Amino acid sequence: MFGIFSLPKILFTIVVIVAVWYGFKWLNRRQQVQRDRAKNGRLSEAGGGKNTAVEDMVQCPDCGAYVPEGGHHNCAGPD
Ligand SMILES: [Zn+2]
Repeated sequence: MFGIFSLPKILFTIVVIVAVWYGFKWLNRRQQVQRDRAKNGRLSEAGGGKNTAVEDMVQCPDCGAYVPEGGHHNCAGPD
């Protein structure tokens, strides 16, 4: 009688443990995929994508400040 009652309990416990274990594995894999995707996105951006909002920066020969190439820049520093 006791064995018939405890066997489903044991099976249920095993199923819960396995489910939690797989849940953790799935979460870890998902985080790894997101990390890889972020890394790849940054790499493709650095590779010269067309949608990059960052312009090429050039150093002003007068004040030494880095300004967008082709942009209007006045050497309006203090002093
Ligand atoms: Zn300048």
